[in-house]
Amino acid sequence: MLDLKRNSKYQLVEATGKRTRKSSIYTPKQTEDFKISRSKFVDFLICPRCFYLDRVGGLDAPGTPGWALNDATDILYKREFDACRKDQTPHRLFEQHGLNHFVPYQHPEIDKWRDSMHHGLSTRFGSSNIILFGGVDDIWLNKESNRLIVVDYKSQSTEREITPYSYLNSVFKQGYKMQMDFYVYLLHEMGFKLHQDAYFVVCNGDRTPSGFNGRMNFDEYLIPYEWNIEWIHNKVIDMIDCMNSETLPSSNESCKNCAYSKQRAFHEM
Ligand code: SF4
Repeated sequence: MLDLKRNSKYQLVEATGKRTRKSSIYTPKQTEDFKISRSKFVDFLICPRCFYLDRVGGLDAPGTPGWALNDATDILYKREFDACRKDQTPHRLFEQHGLNHFVPYQHPEIDKWRDSMHHGLSTRFGSSNIILFGGVDDIWLNKESNRLIVVDYKSQSTEREITPYSYLNSVFKQGYKMQMDFYVYLLHEMGFKLHQDAYFVVCNGDRTPSGFNGRMNFDEYLIPYEWNIEWIHNKVIDMIDCMNSETLPSSNESCKNCAYSKQRAFHEM
């Protein structure tokens, strides 16, 4: 992955491979508070070694490009749901799915909870110095039970049939479920009562027309997901143990990046 380092004026600058912001780097057994985002927690689940090299070693891994089209659908969904939030009316998708008792949740902090860069949902892990946080796409309210519903918007394009079963059992969607569980966990720890299902709002770009002609049509799906947060507590403990260790964890054998680095180091010798 080619990722060139640039300054705030987009000028190329030397890449050192190291982080400079001290607050991003954890010292094993430190007592000061340290924030761990949802994405860093998922990094730990995928490969403790890369997580450790990043958070403790301070290595600055190459990034990936943004997802501008996915961002665009997120922004447009946010506008639609915000209009319903303001009026406290069901969104058109709720009506189509017989969920007229759902409304987008109104709360003074909702914009902060959706701001993954600066705020997000957040909770201290027990009495530790670890603050877990993550920015959620949306939260709805079940007016009958007064419970909150965690929501994630997803954009994709496939010609395969989409059902709740096929969507949730795809090997590529396991990370989405972890992500949802984590947001539910945060809200639960913040003292809120949760509806038994979270929802993915999925829009699927139609690949079947004969040409683009300046527009793409989307089908929409509401995928209910019965969340499970029981696994999170022990995994966070594992993550904290990893951060407090002086030993580099083992790597993920299926990782092509690591395999590539090893091959490259061998060929450059
Ligand atoms: S296996 Fe992959 S994710 Fe893990 S340390 Fe190597 S490059 Fe990073």
